[in-house]
Amino acid sequence: MREKVHPKYEQITVKCACGNTFTTRSTLCKELHVDICGSCHPFYSGKQKFVDATGRVEKFQQKFGGDYFTRAKKK
Ligand SMILES: [Zn+2]
Repeated sequence: MREKVHPKYEQITVKCACGNTFTTRSTLCKELHVDICGSCHPFYSGKQKFVDATGRVEKFQQKFGGDYFTRAKKK
């Protein structure tokens, strides 16, 4: 690797809001803070945080006939 051509590219520590920390390689060269990571994201953890936390989706769908999100996607 030619040092003068490539930007500084180091291993950095990423800290997530859930408390998880992991390392990655980045040109940032400093600690990175994120709100969500592979450990706490619902897609990876299998937990349906969004639905469980509120129950608002059901109420919203009842109010608007249940097809609001379907219509919104087609827009
Ligand atoms: Zn996390």
